[in-house]
Amino acid sequence: MTALRGVGPERAALLARLGVRTVADLVAHRPRRHEDRRHLRSIGQLVIGESAMTSGRVVAAGVKRWRHGTRSVFELVLEDGTGRLHCRWWNLPQMEGQFAVGEELVVYGKVRSHKPTAIDHPETEVVDGGEDRSIHVGRLVPVYPLTEGVSQRWLRGLIWRALAAVEPELTEPWPNLTGRLPLSHAQALRWLHFPEQESDAEAARQRLALEEFVALQEILQRRRQALETKARALPCGGDNRLMRPFLARLGFKLTDAQTAVLRQIRADLSGPHPMRRLLQGDVGSGKTVVAACAALMAVESGFAVAFMVPTEVLAGQQWARLRAWFEPLGVSVELHTGSRQIRGNTGEHAAEGTVGCFAAGPPAAAHTGGLTSGSERNPTLYVGTHALLEPGFAPARLGLVIIDEQHKFGVSQREELVRKGRYPHVLVVTATPIPRTLGLTLYGDLDVSVMDAVPAGRGRLRTFVRTADRLPQVWEYVRAQLRLGRQAFVVYPRVEEAEPASGVKAVLAEFERLRSVLTPYAVGLLHGRMSAEEKDRVMAEFAGQRVAVLVTTSVVEVGVDVPNASVMVIESAESFGLAQLHQLRGRVARSPHPASCILIATAKTADAKRRLAVLEGTADGFQIAEADLQLRGPGELLGQAQSGIPTFRFGDLARDLALIQQARELARLLV
Ligand code: ADP
Ligand code: MG
Repeated sequence: MTALRGVGPERAALLARLGVRTVADLVAHRPRRHEDRRHLRSIGQLVIGESAMTSGRVVAAGVKRWRHGTRSVFELVLEDGTGRLHCRWWNLPQMEGQFAVGEELVVYGKVRSHKPTAIDHPETEVVDGGEDRSIHVGRLVPVYPLTEGVSQRWLRGLIWRALAAVEPELTEPWPNLTGRLPLSHAQALRWLHFPEQESDAEAARQRLALEEFVALQEILQRRRQALETKARALPCGGDNRLMRPFLARLGFKLTDAQTAVLRQIRADLSGPHPMRRLLQGDVGSGKTVVAACAALMAVESGFAVAFMVPTEVLAGQQWARLRAWFEPLGVSVELHTGSRQIRGNTGEHAAEGTVGCFAAGPPAAAHTGGLTSGSERNPTLYVGTHALLEPGFAPARLGLVIIDEQHKFGVSQREELVRKGRYPHVLVVTATPIPRTLGLTLYGDLDVSVMDAVPAGRGRLRTFVRTADRLPQVWEYVRAQLRLGRQAFVVYPRVEEAEPASGVKAVLAEFERLRSVLTPYAVGLLHGRMSAEEKDRVMAEFAGQRVAVLVTTSVVEVGVDVPNASVMVIESAESFGLAQLHQLRGRVARSPHPASCILIATAKTADAKRRLAVLEGTADGFQIAEADLQLRGPGELLGQAQSGIPTFRFGDLARDLALIQQARELARLLV
């Protein structure tokens, strides 16, 4: 940086605060906006009441004070040959030091009066005379994010000179793609800062965003290509010997969407390359059954399967559900979480027992993993949380890894689990639909299956947005449903109140209150700070209908499956994202009874209500995810723990779908 004229160590340190450390960073420093200084008015043309940009030379400047110096006005007089303009700043005497007589200024503001012509508190910028003038005036001028000690004018001049210096050396990033990308790289950088017309700046952004997307897609496609050339697939297609009895006992017929996806998965599992597939579907579309069928195919082929889920509650639930499905088939299902390892039981062995955490004893996998405990036994299905990533977990013959993402695992963790086997097949299941732009970015190296239908025969779920003053009626409604034998969830955004007056309700405080509001019905409490045993106990009581109402946090967001629960009340609903609310209400959308979700908006702002109204209007999770992406951006949509989202300087995941698709095509030409 210090190689540039005008940049010493101090300035370099200031620029570093803006994230600018190299000349390349500098020329890619994205302007916040452009200011149209093509048409400066002369002072004589200024019209009272209109906002305008004009320029002139400072002919006088000074502060007037009155009321014993408590009030002041700093006044600056500009002249441009057609008239004089008075710029005034009230009660800001420190402005005086910033201007000197003789300097040329560009000012922007609303003309207040005519005799004299005056603007109060204008935006101003000092313009150097001489050759530099054309950088700052008479064009579309970039306005940058700044930091203290760096002025617009100085930074603009610096970037102008840096561009001129690097331009001869700028080359196209991919010579193979010359002619297929709009503009040239050099042209894009120039227009990013100094567009000739308004549309040039956006054209430049798009070209530079496209470069970012191509770079990412190239990595993803090379990764995929390396996998396909290096790895031979384990034969996991199965022979239907377990699948047939499984489907016969399931109690329902697979939907067409499920069958179609299973056909794709079977083709992958018996194909030449390890499967890398993403399964997307709306909440309740039956992705777990599909994942279970995939697991059976691998087990039939003699391979163990790991099924990784994001939370302990969900691990416990899935473990119970998969045991009920698999153990009658002679497939044992083991639970591996941070706090517990429980061996399943296939009927011919002893009852389950806790065998301690990883730190305490040798991993259970060493005893029961794969085929080590008898060749007549089927391989094991391991269900667990991140604990499956621990070095202690190393099952023999791992053929398939299923990652129930719930958007909570990052891309790197996904890779870790995969490295445990010799290129096992991988099926990633997303909890909620994700917008295409994000899918192509986060999962661009995966094939995609979409389940676009939910099983028939579900009761209708209706969603209502209510303000907090309607709560008494809401509780009346809940009681009526409980009288009919239904169950209810009441969801709060937090475990404890952050600040007492925040207005965001917390589950611990509300639990006691609800117990009395809803007597004589039994109310249970579930939140993330409880121990795994406590959580299991409460969930079992709720599933067994000994508890009628479950007061909880978003820990029930994922996977929890209690079909008799048909009412969900979500308090302080505006503190959740739309996709999260959709996922939450999915808990009551799986009942055969008509179900309802009542969103209580604490904030009375029209904005919060309008946002929530999206959920009243549609049940389509893909549409909701799209709206959430537009409203809150990708980081919020996917949750804080999602570490896998690349950051783009120019690319915008909320609106650049066409560019991302184009980038995929272009990257294909490179790989
Ligand atoms: P999600 O896609 O949200 O993971 P699940 O797999 O948990 O959905 O399925 C939701 C509910 O629907 C479960 O109770 C499951 O047993 C049931 N289900 C799945 N497939 C079907 C089907 N084809 N017909 C009827 N019910 C189904
Ligand atoms: Mg699920």
